[in-house]
Amino acid sequence: MTAAALAHKLRGLPVRIELVESEEIGTVGVGEATLPLIRKFNEALNIDEATFMKETEATFKLGIEFCDWGRPGDRYIHPFGDYGRPVDNIPFYQAWLRLRQLGETARLDDYSYPIIAAEMGRFQRPGGDPDAIQAGFGYAYQFDSSRYAQFLRRYAEASGVIRTEGKVATTVCDPETGFVRSLVLDNGKTAMAELFVDCSGFRGVLIEQTLKTGYDDWSNWLPCNRAIAVPCESRGPLMPFTRATAREAGWQWRIPLQHRVGNGHVYCSSFISDDEATTQLLGHLEGPALASPRQLFFTTGRRRKFWNRNVVAIGLAAGFLEPLESTSIHLIQEGITELLQLFPDTGFHSADADEYNERMGLAFERVRDFLLLHYVANQRDDGELWLHFQNLALPASLEEKISAWMTRGHIIKYEFGTFLPPSWLAVLLGQNLIPRGYDPRTLKIPEDRLRAESRRLREAVLAAAQRTPDHAAFLRQVGGASHQAPLTAGVG
Ligand SMILES: Cc1cc2nc3c(=O)[nH]c(=O)nc-3n(C[C@H](O)[C@H](O)[C@H](O)COP(=O)(O)OP(=O)(O)OC[C@H]3O[C@@H](n4cnc5c(N)ncnc54)[C@H](O)[C@@H]3O)c2cc1C
Repeated sequence: MTAAALAHKLRGLPVRIELVESEEIGTVGVGEATLPLIRKFNEALNIDEATFMKETEATFKLGIEFCDWGRPGDRYIHPFGDYGRPVDNIPFYQAWLRLRQLGETARLDDYSYPIIAAEMGRFQRPGGDPDAIQAGFGYAYQFDSSRYAQFLRRYAEASGVIRTEGKVATTVCDPETGFVRSLVLDNGKTAMAELFVDCSGFRGVLIEQTLKTGYDDWSNWLPCNRAIAVPCESRGPLMPFTRATAREAGWQWRIPLQHRVGNGHVYCSSFISDDEATTQLLGHLEGPALASPRQLFFTTGRRRKFWNRNVVAIGLAAGFLEPLESTSIHLIQEGITELLQLFPDTGFHSADADEYNERMGLAFERVRDFLLLHYVANQRDDGELWLHFQNLALPASLEEKISAWMTRGHIIKYEFGTFLPPSWLAVLLGQNLIPRGYDPRTLKIPEDRLRAESRRLREAVLAAAQRTPDHAAFLRQVGGASHQAPLTAGVG
C-alpha cells in the first residue's frame, strides 16, 4: 500500500522508490476486513472498484455484527452510518432516548438503513436523492489481503517502483547521526536510500531491531495476545458484514469473502490454552476448514516513535491493535496520508517527525479506547477475561467519554480520530450502557411530533432496505464477482 501510494502521489518528483521484500518470509496473510476509508485509498490510486473486487474476491461491508458482547444472547450491528435524521438540529438518538423513557420500544437500529439492509443481506452503493434515507452511509470491503498485496504489487511496479527480492541481513547507520544509510541483503545486494519506510511487520527490522525505538505495551488494557486463523467453506447467503462473537477468553471473527469465509479466534493466553482456543474455533466453523489452523502471536501497543530519524514505521511495524474493529489497514492508510502531507526533503526537519508522531499517536490511542470500550461495557460473568475488565483502571480519555455519555447521552467529539459519534453510540447502546438522561432540548419538541417523525423514519428505512438488491446479486450486477465464485452456498 505504501509503495503503491507513494509511487502514484509523488509521480513527477525526482523520487525513486525501491521495495525490498522477502518471498521466504512472506506476509502475515491475515487482515480481511476494512473500514470505509479504504475506498478513498483505492479511488486516490484510480483503482477500478469492480476489477479490484474481482481480483481480491472482495465483498461489500456495511458494518460489524457483535454477538454476545454485552451479555450472552445480545447482538447489535455497528453500522457505517448515522441513525435517523436530526430533529430541530438535535441528534436523532436524543429523541430516541426520550421516547424510550416514554415507553417506545423500537430499536435505535430500526432508524439505520445500513443496519436493516445488512440484516436482510442486501446491498447497494449510497446515492440517489441526497435527502433519501439511503443516500448518506458508508461502506467498506472484506477481501483476501494476500491477493490485495499482489494486486498492489503489480500496480506499484507498473508505476515505477523497483522491487528487490531478498532478506535484510544487516543495516548500515551513519555513526554520527544514527540515520539508516543502507541495507545489506542476504544475497549480497545493497539498498541505499535517504528515507526508509519500515513495513517489515511485527519484526520492525529498522524501527526496532536497528533503531531500538521502544514499544508502549498496552496489554493491561487489551490483554488478548494470540490468534488462530482458519478459512472455511461458506454456508448460507453472502452477508454484507463482518461478525465478531465474544467467547470465554476472547472473541471469534467471521469474514465472508466471495470464495470462502475467513475465521479466527483472538484470545488471551493467560485464560485459555492454545489447544482449547483451536478446538473452540474449529467447533464453531459453519463449513469444512479449507486449510490447517495457523497461530499468530502479538503484543498490543504502539512504537514509542513511528518516525525516528529517517525511518517511518507503517503497518504492523508501527504497532498492533487487535482486529475487533478492522482498524489496522485503516491505520496504515492514515500513516501513508500523514507521510505524504509531511513528506520530507533531505534536510529532515525534526518538527515534521514530531507532528507525524503526535498525530499517529493520537490515532492509535483513540482506536485503543474504542476497542477497550467493547470489553469494559460487558456484563458477562463466564470467564476470567471478562472479570479482568470489571475493576480495570481505564485511560482518562475513555473514563471521561463514558461518564459524559452516562449522564445525558452526550458523546464527546474529537477533532481527530477514526470513529465518529455514531460508532461510539452503536457500541455504548449495543452493550447496554443506557444513559440516565437525554438532551433537555428534546423537551421543546412535542411528544406527538417526535412519535410521528420517528415512525415515518422507521418506515422509510424499511421501505428503502426492501427495495435494495440482494448483496450477491448486486456484486454480480456491477461486475465485481470473480468467475469461479459460487457467492451463495446452500445451507449445509
Ligand atoms: C490475527 C490478525 C488479524 C488481523 N485482521 C485484520 C483485519 O481484519 N483488518 C485489518 O485491517 N487488519 C487486520 N490485521 C492486521 C493486518 O494483517 C496488517 O495490518 C496488514 O496485513 C499489514 O501487515 P504488514 O504489511 O505491516 O506486515 P506483513 O504482512 O508481515 O509484511 C511484512 C513484509 O516485510 C517483509 N519483511 C519482513 N522482514 C524482512 C526482512 N528481514 N527482509 C526483507 N523483507 C522483510 C515481509 O516479506 C513482508 O513482505 C490483522 C492482524 C492479525 C495479526
